[in-house]
Amino acid sequence: MAVSVIESICTGCGICEKLCPADAIRVEEGKARAYDNCITCGACVKACPVCAIRNKAALSYRRV
Ligand code: SF4
Ligand code: SF4
Repeated sequence: MAVSVIESICTGCGICEKLCPADAIRVEEGKARAYDNCITCGACVKACPVCAIRNKAALSYRRV
């Protein structure tokens, strides 16, 4: 399972990359990209300041 990044929203700030415990999301060419080793911890989904990351397993997820 993994998360998906909405590239049109992502600002490339790098917050998700820094906090990911699995090194599963990286900023490349100014946009975050998620990889298959994501453990779906949800940390990046909550931390993204512009809500550009969605959990594929829970598309109804809402940031609180
Ligand atoms: S935290 Fe959000 S805006 Fe920042 S690089 Fe990651 S996906 Fe893009
Ligand atoms: S959900 Fe967790 S493991 Fe997956 S990319 Fe985000 S921070 Fe990394």
